[in-house]
Amino acid sequence: MTQDISRYHRQYLFKKIGEEGQRKLVASRITIIGCGALGTVLVNTLARAGVGFIRIVDRDFIELNNLQRQVLFDEDDIKENLPKAIAAERKVKKINSSIKVEAIVSDVNFTNIERFIEGADLVLDGTDNFETRFLINDACVKLKKPWIYGAVIGSHGLTMSIIPDETPCLRCVFESAPPPELTPTCDTAGIIAPASMVIASLEATEAIKFLTGNKQDLNKSLYSYDVWTHETKSFRLEGLRDATDCPTCKSGKFEFLTGDQAPKTTTLCGRNAVQITRSDRVKLDFKELATRFEKVGEVKFNPFMFQAKIDGYEFTIFPDGRAIIKGTNDPAQAKTVYSKYVGV
Ligand SMILES: [Zn+2]
Repeated sequence: MTQDISRYHRQYLFKKIGEEGQRKLVASRITIIGCGALGTVLVNTLARAGVGFIRIVDRDFIELNNLQRQVLFDEDDIKENLPKAIAAERKVKKINSSIKVEAIVSDVNFTNIERFIEGADLVLDGTDNFETRFLINDACVKLKKPWIYGAVIGSHGLTMSIIPDETPCLRCVFESAPPPELTPTCDTAGIIAPASMVIASLEATEAIKFLTGNKQDLNKSLYSYDVWTHETKSFRLEGLRDATDCPTCKSGKFEFLTGDQAPKTTTLCGRNAVQITRSDRVKLDFKELATRFEKVGEVKFNPFMFQAKIDGYEFTIFPDGRAIIKGTNDPAQAKTVYSKYVGV
């Protein structure tokens, strides 16, 4: 079946794309991991460009302080208590009903990442932490999926395009993740929207080049740009892959794809909150959960999220049992209240 592509006319008039490139784009499948400052711009731009299938994976729900930079969301999404992936999917359906979107509300970890990138021609980084990026890198190098790295803080950001077996990978460039206490985050250093928009736009351009068959034009450097100072740096990466002893590309060691199966806690920096994920496959019954919580606190839920306020804690619980508990930075305390009210 030949799809009518006339809505993309101004795009395929651009010679490097052309009608043939546009048809390739329409037949493409991508996974975008993280739907915040970078991810919303990626989803918005690539849905409008006509990428035929977009899988959006994000673990979080929308808060008022996200709207300053997360361009797909609005105040109604917050009133409706929507997870970011679901709100993004709804917006895309209004922007371009001719493409397919799949929203996945989940933490991305070593147990599930390979499933999320399966079938994708390209993976895009919309995350905000090194741990997940190294995980994406391991999974993409293992499954030979090209991916585009992007990161932003303050007014400054970085991007790099990675083609397994051809270019250096993220671990060829950054041997290991810096310790979290030394890494500024957008909760400590802030972030201005133009910075994330520029970096995500560069990522989206790389995606369009790759998916339209213009692989030779991909950025071959680690590129850094500051929207405030206009400082630009381009670190050339030729030869780096041969020169390093990268455990991922050289030894095929995927250290981020292994881990233990115990329930895991992650302190969400600057938010006074802890996330708890569990690896057993549960499907929580929110109605049943509500009867337990209602006796002790205030409860509201929809098919995607369950929220309750109890003992000074704010619980946000997802159907797969994952929870974000606000009101503490202490993982042990969060685990205690989780098992008290949700049970493990
Ligand atoms: Zn490498």
